[in-house]
Amino acid sequence: MAIRRLRECFATPTYSATGVTLVARAFRGTGRMLSLYTRERGLVEAAAQGIGKPGSSLAPAAELFTLSKLFFAEAKGADRLTQARVIEPFYPLRRDMTRYGYAAVACELIMRTTEPGQRVPKLFEILVEYLHAMEETAAPRVLSWAFELTYLEMSGLGPVLDRCPQCGREGVGGVYVAAHGGVICHDCAPPAGTAPNVSPGTVRTLEAMRSFDLQRLERLRVPDASRQQIRRLIRDHIRYHLDVSLKSESFVENLGSWRRPRRRPSQDDPRRSDGHEQ
Ligand SMILES: [Zn+2]
Repeated sequence: MAIRRLRECFATPTYSATGVTLVARAFRGTGRMLSLYTRERGLVEAAAQGIGKPGSSLAPAAELFTLSKLFFAEAKGADRLTQARVIEPFYPLRRDMTRYGYAAVACELIMRTTEPGQRVPKLFEILVEYLHAMEETAAPRVLSWAFELTYLEMSGLGPVLDRCPQCGREGVGGVYVAAHGGVICHDCAPPAGTAPNVSPGTVRTLEAMRSFDLQRLERLRVPDASRQQIRRLIRDHIRYHLDVSLKSESFVENLGSWRRPRRRPSQDDPRRSDGHEQ
């Protein structure tokens, strides 16, 4: 009996991968069910046992956004995470609510629209680049939009921006119609619709964003009028074409209206003000 168990133990297939922790949910007492996006296998769902116990070697890798070298054992249902070595913890993202929220937008988008085992080429590299950039960007909202657009493009679902999908006229802007998959010129647009206007300038900004050139994104100045158009276009496009409303995006957008509870002023108050752009 013991020998048979030993054989079963050795026969369990194992594999390793490098991945980012997208989501961690409570699982069987002190365990966590992790959704990880890996370079080698795309989305992996794995159970990590004993995370809540002091000294757990798996606990650091179960923190959101952490990049780790991971070792798994295959099992029925979900695989088991057996060992993990943290490569990059991305601590700054967990110290700042705004950056945390926008990092979570990318993780939620991937987790909810990718199937386990489905690999999107270059997505892992783009995600890691995004998390690094989110640690110190001066424009977290623009960076987040750029990721969402790039992800849509990589998934073959990007909005048509450069020409009217109906008549083919180029660079004229118009209105965004989700069912047509892009920006339709005013001549072809449905009459008296409620579709949001998208100016030629906003189209150029969207195209700059989806190039995902990080240096260019830092220099990109986005006027308030364009921000409204971009926000609605990306949100509507993701809802219509991926059938997802991102909870993390609502969370981070509502941070702007959130205020700390009042307390008695203190001269040595070490808290920093939340001066990030929204
Ligand atoms: Zn047209």
